[in-house]
Amino acid sequence: MSKIRFRALAQVSERKPLKISEKKRRSSLFGENVFNQDTMRQFLTKEAFIGVKSAMEHGSKIDRKIADQVASAMKEWALSKNATHYTHWFQPLTGATAEKHDAFFETIGDGKAIEKFGGGQLVQQEPDASSFPNGGIRNTFEARGYTAWDPTSPAFLLGTTLCIPTIFVSYTGEALDYKTPLLRALTAVDKAATDVCKYFDKNITKVTASLGWEQEYFLIDKSLANSRPDIALTGRTLIGHSSAKGQQLDDHYFGTIPARALSYMSDLEKECMLLGIPVKTRHNEVAPSQFELAPIYEESNLAVDHNSLLMDVMKKVADRHNFKVLLHEKPFAGVNGSGKHNNWSLATNTGENLLSPGKTPMRNLQFLTFFINTIKAVYKHEELLRASIASASNDHRLGANEAPPAIISVFIGEQLTNVLNNLENVTKGKLTPEERTDLKLNVVGKIPDVLLDNTDRNRTSPFAFTGNKFEFRAVGSTANCANPMTVLNAIIAEQLIDFKTEVDHLVKEEGLKKDSAIFNVLREYIKESRPVLFEGNGYGQEWENEAKKRKLSNNKTTPQALKARVSKQSIALFEKLDIMSKIETEARYEIEVEEYTLRIQIESRVLGDMARNHIVPTAIKYQNLLIENVKGLKEIFGDEFKTHAKEQLNLITQISNHIETINSNIEGMINMRKKVNKITDSENKAMEYCNKVIPFFDTIRYHCDKLELLIDDEIWPLAKYRELLFMK
Ligand code: ADP
Ligand code: MG
Repeated sequence: MSKIRFRALAQVSERKPLKISEKKRRSSLFGENVFNQDTMRQFLTKEAFIGVKSAMEHGSKIDRKIADQVASAMKEWALSKNATHYTHWFQPLTGATAEKHDAFFETIGDGKAIEKFGGGQLVQQEPDASSFPNGGIRNTFEARGYTAWDPTSPAFLLGTTLCIPTIFVSYTGEALDYKTPLLRALTAVDKAATDVCKYFDKNITKVTASLGWEQEYFLIDKSLANSRPDIALTGRTLIGHSSAKGQQLDDHYFGTIPARALSYMSDLEKECMLLGIPVKTRHNEVAPSQFELAPIYEESNLAVDHNSLLMDVMKKVADRHNFKVLLHEKPFAGVNGSGKHNNWSLATNTGENLLSPGKTPMRNLQFLTFFINTIKAVYKHEELLRASIASASNDHRLGANEAPPAIISVFIGEQLTNVLNNLENVTKGKLTPEERTDLKLNVVGKIPDVLLDNTDRNRTSPFAFTGNKFEFRAVGSTANCANPMTVLNAIIAEQLIDFKTEVDHLVKEEGLKKDSAIFNVLREYIKESRPVLFEGNGYGQEWENEAKKRKLSNNKTTPQALKARVSKQSIALFEKLDIMSKIETEARYEIEVEEYTLRIQIESRVLGDMARNHIVPTAIKYQNLLIENVKGLKEIFGDEFKTHAKEQLNLITQISNHIETINSNIEGMINMRKKVNKITDSENKAMEYCNKVIPFFDTIRYHCDKLELLIDDEIWPLAKYRELLFMK
């Protein structure tokens, strides 16, 4: 057996689950390493506490004096927990989180030193922006960028480092990260939704978008994973024949969690508790070695930070447990990939979920308003929503008959479909008193009963209503949720603004009563949005055909999907709501297109190298063995050798054929890359990588995988699927 593979396999059998001793209750650990409101109250003066709280809740500015006080309190708290460093913690467009640690330590002359951290360091820092993706903003403006404190997401301790969540913008204020546009979108949706809420309840003064993500992942033995260049460099297997046993028995989903994995989860959950990430659910997923983790939902900005932090912590904890965690959307061909469902809803300061019906007809009209406006917004911007989840890795899932298709549609269930059918028939213009009463009592009034048994769940829908929230299921497992959440909240904000304008118009200009006006507008929305509603099987070819008739987009690849980001409609949306300027939107597009090209380029190189340096030489080695064997047979049997060497000769020929096809395709792929690399326009380049380079992957892989079936297991150089997925 190849040395690397042998060593890796030998290590697996020595592994035992780590014992985690837990003396404390989990709840007592919650938030222990977070500079949260409770801690702040202890460490801050009353004045400073009120200042920070108001910034957290109303986005008001924090003056320098208060910032100094907060910094000093943060430092005291962090030092009391043995911290040595601090960092601005941010989410640049690389997809990973970024940190640059500075020590609290400062010399003060006379050979003395102290720990120092002031308001200045808390509020702003200047990391070099030129090493982060900026999509050309750097060329247009200044190379410098700065990070600025986001007081709405509490600082936390990671090991001995105090991490301060920040935004990251260019020197001229353009967003260079995920958080900045998200915060702007959340402000926009708060304002638009609050204005609409005033129709129903004057006490509502703030609306927050909530997010509950569900993170899927694979857990693979570290030494096995590290023995494979493709997993190490691309996060997925580029080669590998499926295992004789895969997920066909459905014996993994919700099954007993293997001891080693459970020990990892337990340790991970403990870390999450300390960091204030409210993890709640854990279970096996469909594919072997695939799992899921989900928290209790939170305010979106915090939830996004927590998911980014979680992905980082998952990797660190995995290392301690001799695991490698794979967050890639499709690490293994032939078994399910991973996603990250984004559960979304809107909550008011009065404690209501706007996507959950209530006890009074008015409250239910409010529910319907937000429900129908969401459907309308998704319909109008379905292509942008699809773009918000586009990535090279997520292309493997969307439309691959295991995850939602690349077509965005909305599932609402049978009962709510009936409600919409009823509302669609509301009289145009003024409603009669009888009709209003009937609507209130029999349609709107009955919604809560209807929803109670709304148990039908369509797992194939990319955007499904699940009782009191919408679940955006097409998000990729590696994604930063900020991207889809910025788009979703932005389109809802725009839609609610339009809705209010229309209702106000009917009330003021046409003299309609408020609820009649609302019914009138909603009726038209239902009619217009019909094409996006789909209750059937999203995986079937019939739906693709039907969606085409309905003029819904079906952008299967990232370069195709991303275009919607820079459509006139999308640019106008972000500009109008002060979420992103045209320059920022275009820069983001540029970054995503380039990232796509780079990822495919890397995969293409790794695949070429592996096929040439690992697979082909192994095939030749085995072929030589066969040749030796044939020669021996000839020596013994003379002219009769062919009857005895028939299979060997056949194998020798097959191996030669595979080697020949692999080599000529690698040749072809490299030449194609050379040609495509000359293209200067990044959009065209990404398109060509998608349409001309990727097709080589399948052919090369197919022949490598065939060789895996032919060649002696003893000398096969790569850890096999059965080892990667079934080693406990
Ligand atoms: P599943 O989709 O796996 O059946 P659930 O529907 O119970 O699971 O919940 C999934 C996620 O939805 C959880 O993370 C939960 O916190 C989140 N969630 C529940 N209510 C809301 C809400 N109002 N807003 C956002 N997320 C929510
Ligand atoms: Mg779910």
